[in-house]
Amino acid sequence: MPIYAYKCTSCGFAQDEMQKVSDAPLSVCPSCGKADYAKQVTAAGFALKGTGWYATDFKGGAKPAEPKPEAPSSACGTSACPACH
Ligand SMILES: [Zn+2]
Repeated sequence: MPIYAYKCTSCGFAQDEMQKVSDAPLSVCPSCGKADYAKQVTAAGFALKGTGWYATDFKGGAKPAEPKPEAPSSACGTSACPACH
């Protein structure tokens, strides 16, 4: 389940909210009650995965494939690798 970073522009209250993709975005600040609570652009945990891929993939009920982690260049195992040798 994606976690979104929310922040209130009125009182400055900030919190990460775990929401289903199908849930409507929150708008009311749990701290001051004003409708200035908004999703931040850089959501925690999803900053490196681009934008929007989960919004479409979840609709089919299937889990999106895990992105492959990039192999560190120091452990690539390739003898001809110019970065290691
Ligand atoms: Zn607030």
